[in-house]
Amino acid sequence: MAKKDYYETLSVSRDASPEEIKKAYRRLAKKYHPDVSKDGTSAEKFKQIAEAYEVLSDPEKRTQYNRFGHVGPEQGFDFNARDFRRAREAFDEFGFGTGWDDLFSMFFGEGMRTTAQSHARGRSRAQRGEDLEYKLRLTLEDAAQGTRVKVTVPRYVGCDHCKGTGLEPGSSVQTCPTCHGRGQVEHRRRTMLGSFVNIMACDRCAGMGEIAETPCKKCDQLGRRWEQSRITIEVPPGVDTGSRLRLATEGNSGLNGGPPGDLYIVVELTPHNTFTRRGDDLYSEIPITLTQAALGAKIKVPTLFGQEELTIPAGTQSGETFLLRGQGVSRLRGRGKGDQHVIVKVVIPKNLTKRQKQLLEELDRELRET
Ligand SMILES: [Zn+2]
Ligand SMILES: [Zn+2]
Repeated sequence: MAKKDYYETLSVSRDASPEEIKKAYRRLAKKYHPDVSKDGTSAEKFKQIAEAYEVLSDPEKRTQYNRFGHVGPEQGFDFNARDFRRAREAFDEFGFGTGWDDLFSMFFGEGMRTTAQSHARGRSRAQRGEDLEYKLRLTLEDAAQGTRVKVTVPRYVGCDHCKGTGLEPGSSVQTCPTCHGRGQVEHRRRTMLGSFVNIMACDRCAGMGEIAETPCKKCDQLGRRWEQSRITIEVPPGVDTGSRLRLATEGNSGLNGGPPGDLYIVVELTPHNTFTRRGDDLYSEIPITLTQAALGAKIKVPTLFGQEELTIPAGTQSGETFLLRGQGVSRLRGRGKGDQHVIVKVVIPKNLTKRQKQLLEELDRELRET
């Protein structure tokens, strides 16, 4: 690892006073704070600045650094949560304290947040189950008229064996032997910046500090168990790609008696061979012949659920659009249906028979004379 010059990082001389170091740190931290400077390198630069400040602002660490060129038993030093807080406090005096939580997780990983959350939540406070999202693919036809589908959703459901307590019936709770009731454990992590102390929620007790004397045999003390639930979804007519249907309380079961989360069904339509949908309206193309376009015709047009007769007036141009009212998709909010737009495409014949060619040549002469 390359030797770091903390004085250079903060642009201060080796005999800079604590005041000068603090001033330099604030100036640079403000400049490179990831909330201010949005280019990708600022977070890395900010870490270097914070690290340099941590060492040079602490008389003991600074002396050690001056003597050995590094702090601690190896290159780098323990930039722990306490150091981070000091860096933050020096920064906060400056009245510039946003984005620290993101930085915190950047420095110490997600584990810190987990711990903070488990503390905020208290030891055995009820916790609502997580919301879930399920992507439901539907055909245009099903989306248009609504449908009922049965799907399999993997989720946590309350354990009936322990009634959600996580305890084998008749068993009691005891202090977690792994974290001795603290709910958190320390992990040392080595990174480019040295080794970090990472405080994580205790795995064994999930941050609760307590475990079951005899864990529920069915759910392994989670109070809920994983299953592939069969769920019936009533899809209202008119949903489209991106529509979200909320199924209240169908998400993951809660913890410690908390309520279940919700299940969100996110609709995605499969592409249709005939129709393009825009809002509640449908668009389709229909080929007509040269003569139908010129002379007018009654043609059959496929609709979403059948076919309709459409009158093509004489002299219709290729690309003209005709409207079939009410042949679109049911409106999700409000009454009625959208329309179907029929775009006619005049097909110029290829591979003419001799007779067809003669007729067209005759027509051609006629058209030129008039
Ligand atoms: Zn159980
Ligand atoms: Zn524990």
